[in-house]
Amino acid sequence: MSSSRYMEPWKIKMVEPLHMSTREQREAWIADVGLNLFQLRGDQVMIDCVTDSGTTAMSSAQWSALMLGDETYAGCDSFYKLEAAVKDIMGFKYVVPTHQGRAAENLLANIYLKPNDGKYVIGNMHFDSMRVRAELAEKEPLDFLAEPGYHSTDENDFKGNIDLEKVEDFIKKTGTENIPLIMMTVTSNTNGGQPVSMANIKGLSEIAHRYGIPFYIDAARYAENCYFIKEREPGYQDKTPKEIAREMFSYADGCTMSAKKDGMVNIGGFLCTNSDEIYAIASELVMCFEGFKTYGGMAGRDLEALAVGIQEGIDYTYLKARIGQIEYFGQCLDEYGVPYVRPVGGNGVYIDGMKFYPEIPQERYPGLTFACELYIHSGIRCAELGTSAFTKTLEDGTVVMPRLDLVRVAISRRVWTNSHIEYIAESIGKLYQSGSQYAGIRKKSHGLVAAQEHFTSGYEFIEK
Ligand SMILES: *Cc1c(COP(=O)(O)O)cnc(C)c1O
Repeated sequence: MSSSRYMEPWKIKMVEPLHMSTREQREAWIADVGLNLFQLRGDQVMIDCVTDSGTTAMSSAQWSALMLGDETYAGCDSFYKLEAAVKDIMGFKYVVPTHQGRAAENLLANIYLKPNDGKYVIGNMHFDSMRVRAELAEKEPLDFLAEPGYHSTDENDFKGNIDLEKVEDFIKKTGTENIPLIMMTVTSNTNGGQPVSMANIKGLSEIAHRYGIPFYIDAARYAENCYFIKEREPGYQDKTPKEIAREMFSYADGCTMSAKKDGMVNIGGFLCTNSDEIYAIASELVMCFEGFKTYGGMAGRDLEALAVGIQEGIDYTYLKARIGQIEYFGQCLDEYGVPYVRPVGGNGVYIDGMKFYPEIPQERYPGLTFACELYIHSGIRCAELGTSAFTKTLEDGTVVMPRLDLVRVAISRRVWTNSHIEYIAESIGKLYQSGSQYAGIRKKSHGLVAAQEHFTSGYEFIEK
């Protein structure tokens, strides 16, 4: 068999029925929740592409590992299995389990972002949870994404890269005492699940270490990032994704992990560090927020499933099928000329809202309008990560809209067949051809935590 074609390296043992619905039902449901897709119930959605977080189908090996879960409060066997699996891939000295990624970020923030620490947290593009965590600590999270990452339809191999020159200029200008932490998110979720090159990670690490600033990796999709490095970066073709991961993490002082992504589990996370001092604090602090350091908010059985899943997630044959399916999704959309972030990222296709509905101005939420209409027409739920999510109002009242108005059509791991992918692509393609029925959307009400308003606000369509 030709090796260029990908094939899923698994077969299906258990199936779960979809919740089928009619357009009339969906119109009523979405009106009821003020056009906020996050407020829908799961059974009102046919195909859920709102996130790839915690939605993975576990393997038979993981399900059987669950039965081995050791529920001992302190020092359970399952922790030591997880610790060994994580060290084998990432090579860090210490592993502290947490119930999910943001809990690991919380530990990191409690250590590095205290009131007297510096104000600026540097990143390529911070994920929402870290952004909010930094803001709650009264710090300012800053994105130094390199310019190609902002141009959705221009091809570039590593659109998650950080602008190293800008970072170094900023450090020189601002002073190291004002920068307590540097974080690199791989892949960069917010602008399209886009990878970061090894050269860029190494370059950032050199800068951070030259100036004595701690450097952590947000590793949620580290395995997908390693796959892209293997496929695209000269010198890595003959290395396994695991060897690439080892090198990548060797440049960092530690990482935070949302195992709900490349850990191939429905819940879980951890913090890794090489620092004896940081581990000493984290392993005590985790007790206040999550639980004892050998379970960190997870049941023993969840630690087991993760110990198996994290190894499955870095397997080359799996990754080839995973990314292959996302690429196939992109090819299906190309038949309709749909504007999306190119090349496709690791965890889904990100539609460019302002190019999809060019007649709708940004302040009328073109991306959100598309997401709501797609749900009404086809029962597919996706997530706007653009104008509704990232518009900021400054202290002087100026409203700053984000440069990109992306809608993430996230693809869960090992969940969908290619006929689901074809249905999703055809639904998006037909909507693109017909154009919007509306003149956009306006906001009617907003939530209390500014940085998370997109989860809580209410909206309505603007009639043409
Ligand atoms: C999901 C995610 C997080 C947060 O992890 P949770 O497990 O949802 O708390 C952090 N960073 C990135 C890049 C993510 O995608």
